Amino acid sequence: MKFLNVNTSSVEYVPTLNNWVWTLEGIELLLKKIAAKYGVTSVWLRHLNQDPIENFFGSIRSQGCRNVNPTPDGFEAAFSSLLINSLTSVHAAGANCEVDDCHTLHKVLITSGGCKEQINCDLSEIPDIEFTPLEDKSDPRIVGGLQYVSGYFIKIAKKKVFKGCNECKKDLMSNQEPEYLKYREYANKKWLCSPSDSLLNCVSNLQDTNYAIIKTCLEKNHLKELIKTVIFMHIQFDWIKCELHKEKIIDFLINISCRFFIYNYCKEINKILLNRRECDDDTDSYKWKARKLYMKCFKRKK
Ligand SMILES: [Zn+2]
Repeated sequence: MKFLNVNTSSVEYVPTLNNWVWTLEGIELLLKKIAAKYGVTSVWLRHLNQDPIENFFGSIRSQGCRNVNPTPDGFEAAFSSLLINSLTSVHAAGANCEVDDCHTLHKVLITSGGCKEQINCDLSEIPDIEFTPLEDKSDPRIVGGLQYVSGYFIKIAKKKVFKGCNECKKDLMSNQEPEYLKYREYANKKWLCSPSDSLLNCVSNLQDTNYAIIKTCLEKNHLKELIKTVIFMHIQFDWIKCELHKEKIIDFLINISCRFFIYNYCKEINKILLNRRECDDDTDSYKWKARKLYMKCFKRKK
């Protein structure tokens, strides 16, 4: 559809109409697909709207006066407090959305998650992983961190995975406390366990794999599954000798390391966004983007 300008007699297009046509085409495609796949031939189009999302973002925005452009950190904080204080108690006055009490969103975000579908990872764009041998990681900030993280991992594994198993203790733990672990202990209490060399090496490789993938594929769907697949392709676990717990320990190490390193990476990005840290890696496009975003918002604030 187009319009003729009376004064200039030129043809003009209105963006709203173009977008409307676009939406209709999308709906047509959707209807065809659900008819073919599920045999559903009629759909109540009223259900196809973004009001729940608009309501949710409206609530986030109205958290703490005028929270209009929150950083991921600020968004998370606002979301947590909304979750406790009820997700939708304030419905934006004068908004063009129907009050929905966020039932749908609540279902998607909080109560779902039970269904586990088969996930196929696209491995075509995985970067080559270069492992830095532990001996070459000489920066105490890195080695110290690794020793601490490994110590933390076994502390949990000892409690939840292998309990009193002596064979596992031989594989995972050492009698000698690593150099940097001492500095983390205080009040003469031993909070952490001393990791064996094999475990340290393995955690170091897990760290390299995690960061290599996060750095390049952060936006990919099913990131954790992707990381797990690559870990199984590249990292050996034959140093774990206890047949009874081997499988459980591998599973535990992969899960906890993914969770830990992804969380840590996001924390670093948040710090860059808040200018608590500089971008320390030129090859990392996400850190650069975070730095740039901070500079942009900072200029605006001035
Ligand atoms: Zn065992």
